[in-house]
Amino acid sequence: MTPQHFEVIDTRTIRPFKYPRLAHNGYLYHFHKKCTHHLRWKCNRVYSLKCPAVLRTNINYEQGHIVVDHEHVHGYDFIAIEALKTRINVVKQSSLFK
Ligand SMILES: [Zn+2]
Repeated sequence: MTPQHFEVIDTRTIRPFKYPRLAHNGYLYHFHKKCTHHLRWKCNRVYSLKCPAVLRTNINYEQGHIVVDHEHVHGYDFIAIEALKTRINVVKQSSLFK
């Protein structure tokens, strides 16, 4: 099994939402819903490209146990991941000067 790249991106500085974004193997996901035994996360491109890929994690998502359902209909989303991180950093830095 190949090691999975998994990263939790804390977005609370840019919007007040309980769940962060998840970056996994070059794709970006946002929280969808809570199920009985796991959390469901949808691909960042679900609206723009109707991507059907869904991520499932434990209720405690930081443990990084991940299953991906369905194939992505597009290439890696590193640009979106970097853009999101840049946006968070800009907000963090500007809030230091308030
Ligand atoms: Zn996708």
